[in-house]
Amino acid sequence: MSEGTEESGRGTHWLLYAILAAIVLATLTGGFLPELAAETEILGEMFLNALKMIVVPLVMLSIMVGITNLGDIRSLGPIGGRTVLYYIATTSLAVIVGMVLVNIIAPGEGLSQGERHPSMSYRLGGEELRTVELDGELTKRYDGTYALTLTDQNVTGMISAIEEGGITVADWRLTTPDADYLTTEAGQRLLLIDGMRAQLNLNPAGQGIAVDLPMAASVKDKEGRGIGSAIREVFLGNPRTGKEGMIPENVFKAMAETDILPLIFFALLIGAALSVLGEKGRPAIAVISALNDAVMQLVNWIMYTAPIGIFGLVAARIGEAGGFSGFLPELMAVGKYFFTVLLGLTLHGVVVLPLLLMLFARRNPVPYAGGMSTALLNAFSTASSSATLPISMKGVTEENGVSERSSSFVLPLGATINMDGTALYEAIAAMFIAQVYAISLGLGEQVVIVLTATLAAIGAAGIPEAGLVTMVIVLNAVGLPIEGISLILAVDWLLDRFRTTVNVWGDSIGAGVIDAYEVRDAGKTAQSG
Ligand code: ASP
Repeated sequence: MSEGTEESGRGTHWLLYAILAAIVLATLTGGFLPELAAETEILGEMFLNALKMIVVPLVMLSIMVGITNLGDIRSLGPIGGRTVLYYIATTSLAVIVGMVLVNIIAPGEGLSQGERHPSMSYRLGGEELRTVELDGELTKRYDGTYALTLTDQNVTGMISAIEEGGITVADWRLTTPDADYLTTEAGQRLLLIDGMRAQLNLNPAGQGIAVDLPMAASVKDKEGRGIGSAIREVFLGNPRTGKEGMIPENVFKAMAETDILPLIFFALLIGAALSVLGEKGRPAIAVISALNDAVMQLVNWIMYTAPIGIFGLVAARIGEAGGFSGFLPELMAVGKYFFTVLLGLTLHGVVVLPLLLMLFARRNPVPYAGGMSTALLNAFSTASSSATLPISMKGVTEENGVSERSSSFVLPLGATINMDGTALYEAIAAMFIAQVYAISLGLGEQVVIVLTATLAAIGAAGIPEAGLVTMVIVLNAVGLPIEGISLILAVDWLLDRFRTTVNVWGDSIGAGVIDAYEVRDAGKTAQSG
């Protein structure tokens, strides 16, 4: 270990403890004082912005430096091939771990997707007739994930409470899409239907109710997403959202949108071109290399603020979820599902990935994890692989001694396409939804889930809860109801943090494994040369 590495190792120790303390403190503040905690959001946002600010220059500069360091750009072939092979193999392994667990534990069995009672009569009462007294019993228990519909009046409302007096809904809306309320200055509530105004006159009694899962707002408009459009989006982008694909139309737009894949592609090409230029390219390479060092210095500075930023991120999110008293009931409702995903992530992160590091890189995973701990905690706190990239770069190279030429290629690509945690979660979530709806899936369909979950994880951006949205691809592929996503929505922000941690861990192990092969290759060339 060089002197510099020892220095930075000691230097970051206090930081690690400070971040751990911040997470504990934030959890307590968010849990017990949710309103106060929600106010700390600004601290987290500032820290997150600072990290995001350097992601684009960091990705581009480090890749250009990495490529120009390769010596011979033909050696990009082996490193590229191995990286992609490692990504595909580990992501598939993660999905398989998830599939095995979800089949054994069967977390969705016994939960309800809702029920219909066309002949059950009801009476409305309470404030704004929002409480529904039923003439019979519902078969299962429901919570705020579900909606109650009065089928004879075509109105529906999200359940806000189920008590002895009846079921109270948060608000009545027309079952028709595009219907919404308008509150006038006088406090009168009018119903808007496609921009037309109409007053909602509910009958205080009627017959016919249904309880079901509504379509989650976060996946609306994405219901039609299939495998074809997902692959297209990876390569060509999405003209509707302006997202650039791997081959960008406009590289500045890709920078402005932090679309990393096109930036990697562009930086690879420029780096390769600079190497080919030889003498003429040298001054530019020197400038790029200095700028890259400067950006890494910025990472150091930003990291000093990490404990405060991470406190804000974690406290505000728990506060927003209503603190422990608001969130724990939601967690209990899908506790088995939550536990299955967590168990899968633990198995993959603690057993499968470390084994790969031992087998293929011949390295001890414990100190390796120690070197990555700041990055892993940051991944947990930000729920974003991309925002964690600057810190994982530092961890991999400075703490774990992986060469920059390997890390600069493996990590940015990994942050975008290698998501073991996300893939594992997508598979479990899809199977969970199938189990809730009592749709039994055969081996063939489960294989389709394995393939599409891998693809959906590749397609997910390294930003919070991106996996939730790309899950539509998996559900569509095997014809599962998209509404099922509503079931897992309330706990997704927390699961997201765990899966992002595994995503970043998978990338960093990838860097270690690929680098070991690079070092071996370099040794061989030196021997034969
Ligand atoms: N938040 C995850 C990440 O950044 C992606 C996801 O699963 O939603 O890696």
